[in-house]
Amino acid sequence: MTEGNKSPRADSKTIVVPFIPGDGIGPEIMTATRRVLDASVEKATADAVEFRWLEVLAGEKAYKTTGSWLPDDTLRIISENGLAIKGPLTTPVGGGIRSLNVQLRQSLDLYASVRPVRYFPGVPSPVKSPEKLDVVIFRENTEDVYKGIEWKCGSDEALKLIDYLRSELHVELSADCGIGLKPISETATKRIARAALRFAVRKGRPVVTLVHKGNIMKHTEGAFREWAYELARDEFSEHVMFEESASMEDASSSGKILVNDRIADNMFQQVLTRPDEYSVLVTPNLNGDYLADACAAQVGGLGVAPGANIGDRIAVFEPVHGTAPKYAGRNTANPTALILSGAMMLEHLGLTSASTMVEGAVGKTLSQGIMTGDLARRSGRPDSVSTSGFADTVIHNLV
Ligand code: NAP
Repeated sequence: MTEGNKSPRADSKTIVVPFIPGDGIGPEIMTATRRVLDASVEKATADAVEFRWLEVLAGEKAYKTTGSWLPDDTLRIISENGLAIKGPLTTPVGGGIRSLNVQLRQSLDLYASVRPVRYFPGVPSPVKSPEKLDVVIFRENTEDVYKGIEWKCGSDEALKLIDYLRSELHVELSADCGIGLKPISETATKRIARAALRFAVRKGRPVVTLVHKGNIMKHTEGAFREWAYELARDEFSEHVMFEESASMEDASSSGKILVNDRIADNMFQQVLTRPDEYSVLVTPNLNGDYLADACAAQVGGLGVAPGANIGDRIAVFEPVHGTAPKYAGRNTANPTALILSGAMMLEHLGLTSASTMVEGAVGKTLSQGIMTGDLARRSGRPDSVSTSGFADTVIHNLV
């Protein structure tokens, strides 16, 4: 573990922030992000708060240094501090190594993937009115087919299961099937729904939509819908109204949140055709994975999509995109998604003015047409800035 900090002001509050630079473009976008976050905290708190950055290892750097892709020390330090910010990590191919991101989420019980999706003017988008989409997606992170319970076609386990299903449950499956399980529990469903509803109440978001494929998978996706409604009725009755008996106008005139649900395929078209009718989306793992990237594409793509993985005690903030290896080490990658993930971390830490300041400065920078090559290319702009140059302008625009 290494540290890099200036000396703290005698009366300042120091917050230790573990960070994983990540692989590929990770280190350069992390350096840009740390500079922006430091500058915003300094400005917003008049130096009363400062970050002590503590590098923790994961991914290729960890493997080269310690022989482990995800050292126990890394998990311990993140757990002790209750948070971290991370760059993208390469998932080693082959050798049976599980995705490091999945390992991190499962080891630290980061059960909610939280992805705010909103448009920044100036960013190239494939749709006509990208500004109409402003949603926060709460995706369950620990269950569903992502739990990874599956058996290869022809394996003893798959054949045993096929035999058991036929003999005990009268379900016929062909012997050349691979088999995966899709567990969805009441406990995990209720905690993601609770996190989403608490967020909606705290932020005054007008609608919470449960997204599911319950018309087909009744006892998993359908149960997700039922349990989430039950939770809303049992724990949020003073804050919510339900679409079966109230309209959006009824809810907003009573100062309440409208809770409704949509079948997943319909949801994909609704975010395109009626984006302004949605505000918070709650999804099981697989639907949420697809939906979050589809929504991100609407407002400009992965380079501007921030995220966080949050549990009851620990939160890890990270961009949605991966390591983009072809841009590594060239100071050309777009740091926006990681900077915005950093803004989410500031808010999580209660540094709301610094968070607002960062979002405002990113918005102003993009609206000035200052952008890295990925966005400049798609906007048809001849000029672009480097990763560090983008951070310089964001820092200049912090007010
Ligand atoms: P990716 O790294 O997200 O890159 C795909 C493409 O998206 C890039 O080639 C580039 O597009 C564009 N891009 C993404 N982020 C960008 C940025 N910040 N600035 C500029 N352009 C950006 O996805 P991938 O190629 O599928 O995955 C590469 C590695 O990342 C894999 O090892 C994967 O496992 C890992 N990964 C990690 C995470 C994570 O740690 N959370 C998430 C996803 C993937 P153009 O080529 O069109 O310019």
